[in-house]
Formats: sequence, C-alpha cells, structure tokens
Amino acid sequence: MSRPSIIYPYGPNESTCGYCSPPGSRSDTEYNRTSASLQALALTCDVYQRMIDRGWRRSGTYCYKPDMKNSCCPQYTIKLDALQFKPSKSQRKLMRRWNNFVERGDNSDAMTTEDKAKRPPRPNKSEDESGSLSSLLHAVEVPWVDPETTRHRFETVLEPSSYTDEKFELFKKYQADIHHDFKSSQSGFRRFLCETPLRTSPISYTGSPPAHLPVEYGSHHQLYRLDGELIAMAVLDILPSCVSSVYFMYDKKWERFSLGKLSAFRETSLACEIHQAGASQMSYLYMGFYIHSCPKMRYKGEYSPSFLVDPENYEWYPLETCVKFLSKNRYACFSSPEHSTSDPPPEYIEDAEPDPIPTEDLAQINIVRAARRGQVMVEPINEARCWSSEDARSLILHCIHGLGTGLSKEVIFTLQF
Ligand SMILES: [Zn+2]
Repeated sequence: MSRPSIIYPYGPNESTCGYCSPPGSRSDTEYNRTSASLQALALTCDVYQRMIDRGWRRSGTYCYKPDMKNSCCPQYTIKLDALQFKPSKSQRKLMRRWNNFVERGDNSDAMTTEDKAKRPPRPNKSEDESGSLSSLLHAVEVPWVDPETTRHRFETVLEPSSYTDEKFELFKKYQADIHHDFKSSQSGFRRFLCETPLRTSPISYTGSPPAHLPVEYGSHHQLYRLDGELIAMAVLDILPSCVSSVYFMYDKKWERFSLGKLSAFRETSLACEIHQAGASQMSYLYMGFYIHSCPKMRYKGEYSPSFLVDPENYEWYPLETCVKFLSKNRYACFSSPEHSTSDPPPEYIEDAEPDPIPTEDLAQINIVRAARRGQVMVEPINEARCWSSEDARSLILHCIHGLGTGLSKEVIFTLQF
C-alpha cells in the first residue's frame, strides 16, 4: 500500500438538533447523533467514495456517520443520477434567467446607448429547449463565448482547494448576510472548507480531456466570477463515481438568481462532462444529506432521478419510494420497513461496548505501531497494546462497525497523531 488511508477513531457523539423548527420549540429530546466519527489523516478518493456510500460525510478532515435511528432528524445520503437528469421547465427557466442577465444585463445595470447597441437579440425561447444541460450552462460563459459580445463577463474556474483571502472574505460575508453569523474565523474557514484528507489521483480519462475539466480526483473549489469579482464558490469533492457537493456560498447581492440551485445544475453537468470525456464510472451528483423532517432541506429532492441510501443495507432506493416511508416515520428503513419507527429518539443512550468483530477479521485490520522517516509500520489491531484498553477498543469497534469490516481492512487505524 503506497498511499494508505490513515484514520484516528473517535466514538459516537451527540449534539442538539439544528434542523428542527421553529428553534424556540426545541425540547431536550431533540438530538442528532453520530454512530461513529473519525479524524482522517489521509484518505484515498476510492476509500472516501465507499465511505459516503455508507452514509459518511466530511467536514474538513473530520468524518462522521449519522446514527439515523437515534436522531430526531435522520440524515439520508442523497444522490442524483447526473446522466439521466433532465431539467424541468422551471429549472431551465432559472438557467435562462441567469444567461439573459449575463448576456444582456438587467435593470440593475446602468446602460449606455452603446451598451444597448451591444446587446444581442433575445434568443428565441424554444431554441434551447432541446439543448443539453452543459450547452445551456456554458452558453454565456467564458471561454465558450467571447466576453466582448456579452454585457457581463462570466466564468467559472475549478481548482484544487486552497486558502485565499478573497475566498475567506466571501465566506465571512455569506455567513453574516445569510446565516447571521458574525464570528467567522479564518482558521475555521481553513479547517472546514480548505483542508481535506483526500489524496489526489489522476482521473482515468480515455483521451486528453477538455481544458476546463479537472485532471485529478480530490477536493476542489469552483469559483464563480462575474466581471472578475468572486460572487460564489462551491467546495466539491471529485470522486471516482461522483461529484460530491460539500458546501456552497454566494454573495447576497446575487440572491435573486438562485445561485445555489444553479450550482447544482453546474455540478450535475460537471459529472456528465467528466463521464463523456471517458471516465465512465463518473455518473452521480451527491448533494449531501436529505433531511425529510426539515422542509428547508427538501429542495434536494427536486432533482430527478434521485436515490437515498438505506440506513441498514446501504443499497439505493428511488426517492419517491423513500418519501412514502419518510412521511409516515421518523426513522425509515427501506430495506426492512418493519424496522421503521415514529417513536422519538431515546433521551439517553447507554455507553455499551459495541458488538464484537470476528477474530479472523480483526487480524486483517491494521493499526500504526510506529512511524519513522515517513515509513509507517503496522500490526494487527487485536495484537496492539491499546487493544487491552476498554476505551480504545470501544472507539475502534464503533469505527469498524461504521466503516464495515471490508473497508476497515483497507485503512490503517492510529491512536497517535
Ligand atoms: Zn431535529
């Protein structure tokens, strides 16, 4: 294993729920819990793809797996089949509205007669109905159009995730204007939206891809620039079979164009374009968690065809099927509907030792014994000294259950930083 995935196991944890509304009505029983969490020192994109397919998600280098059964607002991983996605009439209208603005400006632009003369004729409405999603999105974007021919210059740039002051300024403004959070710190921004445990690896294109496509799997920032100004940014993980949306922020000044929705179309198109360039496994957009009990989050279900991952067998079920169960139950299991329940989550969870794992499996799960000069030496986890500590064993077992034994054998545990 040349570039291993290394993880530091944390136990389960709980926090009061941020999704229940109205906030004033929260009771003490409204918890969201994780069944396992970890700090990732390094993850290959393949390992992380398999983690999110089991309901994990990352925030910076911290990864967690919601405990659906014991949370008031269970979080289901949702994916959109990007290759099958056909925008609805109203979704096309949103894209056209932005295109018209870039192309021709609107009332907010003080226009000179010269500008007006520069305006191209408004396109025939039916003209783009048959066009592909990508062609509709790129219709007014540099380098697909000459910026001399449009009122505004619009471009997007996809780059490996990295910190800049300009990005942080946008984040700070977004947090204050949209979330009324005035305490954003530069270190918090770096930690959650710039740092990543993902190790890059080349995307398996068949030929040389178009210049605007990424060349490596890994964490990226997609910058939206209007007339040179950074107006929005998406944090994206580009993984073997999906584009996974981590975060999106925008300048409130452009709120009227629903940039959040436009970003989902752009990310869907990105997955399609990577697929078309020969990385045939790439097919989905992951939009994070779908939380049925939180109306504000249901917009994620407006993109079709979408699927939710089952919390027990980790197979994918069509969203329409899932919604039927979710509207009747707090916790819905699609593979074994009889496990679904509407009872509130328990107030306390006993700190019991997790179920044991067969010895022959444990013998194939490794932990760091020593690290010297960049060389990592490992030993079977059940032979490590820490295995005799009940606390350490409990953390590790929770993590193994969360990852599944198959995936646990492909990562290296560590209890040292
Ligand atoms: Zn809740």
